Amino acid sequence: MTSAPTDVFGYASALTAGERGKLDELRGYLDAEVRPHVAGWWERAECPVHVREGLAALHLDDDPAVLGEDGRPRPLYVGFRGFELARCDLSIAMLYGGQANMFRSVIREGGSPEQVAAWDAPVAAFETTGCFALTEPDHGSDVARGMATRAVRTGDTWRIRGRKRWIGNAAISDLIAVVAADADSGGTHVFLVPRDAEGVELTEITGKIAVRIVRNADIVLDDVEVPESSRLQRVSSPRDIARIFASLRPDVAWFAAGMQAGAYEVTLRYAREREQFGRPIAGFQLVQDKLARMLGNATASLAMAVGLTGSGATASGDAAERNAALTKAWVADALRETVALGRGVVGGEGIRVASDVARFFADAEAVFTYEGTREVNQLIVGRAVTGLSAFVR
Ligand SMILES: Cc1cc2nc3c(=O)[nH]c(=O)nc-3n(C[C@H](O)[C@H](O)[C@H](O)COP(=O)(O)OP(=O)(O)OC[C@H]3O[C@@H](n4cnc5c(N)ncnc54)[C@H](O)[C@@H]3O)c2cc1C
Repeated sequence: MTSAPTDVFGYASALTAGERGKLDELRGYLDAEVRPHVAGWWERAECPVHVREGLAALHLDDDPAVLGEDGRPRPLYVGFRGFELARCDLSIAMLYGGQANMFRSVIREGGSPEQVAAWDAPVAAFETTGCFALTEPDHGSDVARGMATRAVRTGDTWRIRGRKRWIGNAAISDLIAVVAADADSGGTHVFLVPRDAEGVELTEITGKIAVRIVRNADIVLDDVEVPESSRLQRVSSPRDIARIFASLRPDVAWFAAGMQAGAYEVTLRYAREREQFGRPIAGFQLVQDKLARMLGNATASLAMAVGLTGSGATASGDAAERNAALTKAWVADALRETVALGRGVVGGEGIRVASDVARFFADAEAVFTYEGTREVNQLIVGRAVTGLSAFVR
């Protein structure tokens, strides 16, 4: 695998031959099956579900060539996999990652050994697909403090009432992992709710200016009945959800680094080819300043993604939370600047979706907000370094 031009320090050289081979396969698939069509899908807000099947068929998560001694892919490989996907398109990265990274982790880290034994294999094979539903219409950043969705237990049956918003891939998932508060104990549970269960209603969120390929849904749960066996047995508090998501924290940084690589490559190519005043615009100092800035941001973002991934083995508790928040907020800022610079260099063509840089420019806005807004992550860092919480008065 040739390194991305923004991997100036050669982090990819720490991948094994098996991992590099797998990422080559991924790149080949994306070049052949995604790149030629992605601008059209984005413009038409069309989700190519067949791409999820195509990616599943590559066995990016369970090929023995990428499995470590613990039977799982190494975090560095998982990171570069996200980087490659996002370097092509963020929505496609979310289409794959929502299943292979997020939903699979929710089952593996939240389920009892029996539940994991029953569900992990079909989830790994994409035979059973899923999404994660935490955010609500009235509770986004403060959802951990004010969740309105409630679950009531009678015998071995739970009844769930509530609303969820923004849920990615919900319309193309078999199961929705719904987070709900226990009406009696006040604890927090995750239930695997079939998308077609009675009382579940999905409405597509339309008119988006970012990740138009991703299908985000509003969900109403109206007295939805699920058995106790559908409740993930190792989740009973927001802390358990944080534990599940701990291994997923670097994902967004890898995505942001990959998007910047994609935007930088498109911009550099255009600047070399586009001639004004009798020479390529790449030869102008002001354009070179922007290219250098983009490369610096992309390089630093990749370094933070690699650093955060490596720190998983050493940092824990508050330090791990601080590191993840620092990285998310910083790469979100860097990404916004990088894609805006690229969009400008590509001139009028840069506001056309077909230029690719426009897609990265718009999609950066999703990274800014999802999985904890840039501001909320700054507040987590602020609390860690000052010992004072600015979240509430
Ligand atoms: C593309 C996309 C995909 C998503 N996918 C999913 C998904 O699959 N599952 C899921 O559960 N959720 C998903 N979400 C929801 C996402 O996690 C929320 O959008 C995010 O947590 C922010 O919540 P909010 O949009 O309600 O904004 P709000 O919380 O209402 O925030 C609005 C603004 O207020 C600021 N703010 C809030 N509190 C404070 C404070 N204390 N101090 C300073 N500023 C503050 C925020 O930074 C933001 O700028 C997705 C969102 C997007 C955009």
